[in-house]
This record gives sequence, structure tokens and C-alpha cells, in this order.
Amino acid sequence: MRKALMVTVEVDPERVESRLAGGELSCPSCPDGVLVRWGFARVRRVVGSADAVRPRRSRCRTCAVTHVLLPVTLLLRRAYVAGLIWAAVVAKAAGAGHRLIGHRLGVPGSTVRGWLRVITGRAEVVRHWFISVAVAAGVDVSIPKATGSGCGDVAAAVGAARSAVAARFGERSVIGAVTSARVAVACSGARLLAPGWPPAPTPGHPTPVDPDVHAVDGSSSRG
Ligand SMILES: [Zn+2]
Repeated sequence: MRKALMVTVEVDPERVESRLAGGELSCPSCPDGVLVRWGFARVRRVVGSADAVRPRRSRCRTCAVTHVLLPVTLLLRRAYVAGLIWAAVVAKAAGAGHRLIGHRLGVPGSTVRGWLRVITGRAEVVRHWFISVAVAAGVDVSIPKATGSGCGDVAAAVGAARSAVAARFGERSVIGAVTSARVAVACSGARLLAPGWPPAPTPGHPTPVDPDVHAVDGSSSRG
């Protein structure tokens, strides 16, 4: 299987273009590489986005590896905007079931159930990941207590990470307005629902806070 590499970037294509032109996007695959324009990835329709998304493709000047620049509103291989998926997690945390959530969001209940199963199935490690982000980004971070609900724990941890990131970088950062959904995308490298995420912790590699530094495998699209 061919592996495409991906970098999460801001939503505004003009900002992405200007950062590419200015050599401001670092290559996640090598130490000193800079990404330059390299055509576009395939156009994708995403539920919740009015326009089709045509992500920029980039190539490293040093190692020649290409990376798709995926806006921070999208999760890898998901056909729905991250904001909708995140709204489902938050609604589940508040006690709603997948059918009601699906009805409210206009998404099939089975699709919602699929998202929630992924989150619930690895809630503890995902919670830990975002608490690590909060601790790495913030000062005097208050660690949310476990709630006994997988989605509740993940929502609280992402909320803590959001507050810490906003306190450190401002309510508007490179990813635009710092919302929980965007923090969930940026700090997972768009892999929140991807198999094998989060990776097992490696000593000496602290949780990255910079939304530009995640290289992940990005091929086809799922629900
Ligand atoms: Zn490189």
C-alpha cells in the first residue's frame, strides 16, 4: 500500500500559499527540510463543508518527500468535517445516544456510532495524550478528573488542551480560532479516529504541540 504523508495546516488557503512561498512550512520527514508547492491532492467532498476541498500538495526541497497539506477542519480519511465529529463526541459526553446525535447533526446514526466506538475504545490513551498536550503547552494546568464516560473524559481532556493552547498561543493561532475540534485535529495530526493512534509513548519524544509537525499516513477516505 502506498503511503502518502500529511501535514495539518490552517484553513485559509491564501495563508497556506503564503507560508509555502515564504519557506515557512517545515518538513516533518527530515530535520531541516522546507516544503514547497507540488500541485494539488485530489478534490474531496466533505459533509459539513459547503465547498469541495482541494488540499495543496507539497514537496520537501531536501528529502523530496511529498506531503498533502490537510486543513485543520478535516480528520484523515473521514468524509465529515471534524466539527461534526467533535460535536458528536461532546453530545455523547453530555449523555445523548448515537441515534439522537445523528438525528440532530443530520448524520446516519450508524456513522455516529462508528465514531463514538473508536473514541470510547481508546478513551484512556486519548485522554492521556491530550492531558500531555495541556501540560506541555500550559502553566498551572488543572487536570480534569476521570468522569467514568469515555467520551466525557476525552472531551474534558481536549478542553484542557484547548485552554492551555489558547493561553499560550492566543485564541487565534496558526490554526485560526482555537476551538476544541481544531485542537483535537491539530494535536492528533488529523488522526483522532485513525487506526493506531495515539502512538505508544517513546522516551525523549514529548507530545508535540506544534500543529505542523505530524507526519501521518493518509490514503483513501472512510465514513
Ligand atoms: Zn524533508
